[in-house]
Amino acid sequence: MSEQDLTSKSNGKKLLILGLDGGTFNLVRPWAEQGHLPTLKRLLDEGVSCDLNSTFPPVTSPAWPSFMTGMNPGKHGVFDFIRPKGTDYDMVNATSIQQPTVWARFARAGTKVGMVNIPVTYPPQKLDNSFIISGLLSPRSGTISHPADLIKKYEGKIGPYRIAPAVQYSRGHEDAYIKDIYDLVRTRGKWATTLVENEAWDVFMVVFGETDIGSHALWRFADESHPQYDPDAPDHIKNGLRNLYALVDEQMGKLIEAAGEDTIVLVMSDHGFGPLHYTVNLNLLLMQTGLMQLKRKPLTQLKAWLFKNGISPQTIYQFAEKLGVHNIAARVSKKQRNAVFRRFLSYDDVDWERTVAFSMGHVGQIYINTRGRWPHGSVEPGYEEYEVREKVISALNGMRHPETGEPIIDRIILGSEEYSGPYADRGPDIQLIMDGYRCISFPLFATTPKLFTEQIRGDSGNHRREGIFIASGPGIKKGEIRETAHILDVAPTMMYLMGQPVPTEMDGQVLTDILEQPWEVTYSETADADIDPETGLSTEEAEEVKDRLRGLGYLED
Ligand SMILES: [Zn+2]
Repeated sequence: MSEQDLTSKSNGKKLLILGLDGGTFNLVRPWAEQGHLPTLKRLLDEGVSCDLNSTFPPVTSPAWPSFMTGMNPGKHGVFDFIRPKGTDYDMVNATSIQQPTVWARFARAGTKVGMVNIPVTYPPQKLDNSFIISGLLSPRSGTISHPADLIKKYEGKIGPYRIAPAVQYSRGHEDAYIKDIYDLVRTRGKWATTLVENEAWDVFMVVFGETDIGSHALWRFADESHPQYDPDAPDHIKNGLRNLYALVDEQMGKLIEAAGEDTIVLVMSDHGFGPLHYTVNLNLLLMQTGLMQLKRKPLTQLKAWLFKNGISPQTIYQFAEKLGVHNIAARVSKKQRNAVFRRFLSYDDVDWERTVAFSMGHVGQIYINTRGRWPHGSVEPGYEEYEVREKVISALNGMRHPETGEPIIDRIILGSEEYSGPYADRGPDIQLIMDGYRCISFPLFATTPKLFTEQIRGDSGNHRREGIFIASGPGIKKGEIRETAHILDVAPTMMYLMGQPVPTEMDGQVLTDILEQPWEVTYSETADADIDPETGLSTEEAEEVKDRLRGLGYLED
């Protein structure tokens, strides 16, 4: 096919993708109807929309890498923010994605690509025909753009760029948090609009991560049915999340205008959002049921005894808080605090030879300690592994909702059924949907001695599988709601809309029915795009990324 054919098939159109991290129609549709989100209202009225199912687990990373590759995590290898490796874990980064992204495919085809703030794009890939500012999981000290001088080029005119919030949410300090996150949205919007106006692009994407971060913190103020709803909160806090969406909506309007009329606009999220009521300590359940064993060393046994009797760094901190001396504790550096935590119960205290399963990851991921797969694997692959899986499932099914006494697990998702591809065994063997995701697990080895805890950090909202998708613009159907699509469908649909053949190795389907007059899908067999060799972050970079994730509650012990 000649280049001219390609252009004529896409009608020379441009593609603008607006990512709302954690965006949900449970908020967007009513707020749009009520007039708070005029841009989204117009897009919904003039375009096609549907729920967009996320990956399992519905977590930012792996969801964005799955979107970018059009492939399930078993093929690209990213299952979470972290990759467990025995008693420890590595942070994932852009080079952990073991498949070419849609950006690399576009760049190879000569399509000009611009990207701002997409999670898991650090270190930025140096693609031809492209510019990028990387997103979540970027370290503070790294070069976050390609070309490297991209930020310098504009910051004199529009002010410094920011990736992450400067204020960590804590209860009772909503004002400072809200001010900071609103400023972050404006900064993001201003930078994205400036790049759209001044750089060359055919496909441009920006992700507003603030909708996710803000939903984690502010959900309970917007949700009257939340057990921690505060009827006495001032209006600007009650409406804090709605106003955040409205600010993003305003920035979206500016971006669409800057992109021009002949642009197809896609709005998407990586996962949805909903209330969070409980956090469960799955490693504690595994200990209680004998599936996880602690070392017989006296120190570990002493710590285990303290732990069982409700004494942990967390309870000591809460005690200090009651006494009003926690300011002293807060003055202790994070490094020192982590050192104290590490001296308490941790994965280091686990007797791996006698442990058959462990949990790592914040939605409810469990791994079987299979030999050959983990440094201290204790379970033979095959039948023994299957037996352990059944034991874990039976232990999980015994868990009851702390209030209603009903079984808390709605659904158990098996890695063997969910993932396919060369990296499928990096994924969790078992993951859970508990009380419709109103209950999640502690990400790491929690130091709370209770199975269920009402809150983790200050979070009152958490991810859901059902995210959002809207398409609008030239040739797109108007005012329709279609059946649910999958996040894997977006990349093949983007390639199709840009008049390019869809790689057969992508798992998603082209959403041809969003068009008034769909044309035929063409496919290509080869992976005609580049991937960077996998490299780990430096220790310093990894610590910076961990710090940021801790600030967002994704790595809380
Ligand atoms: Zn997310």
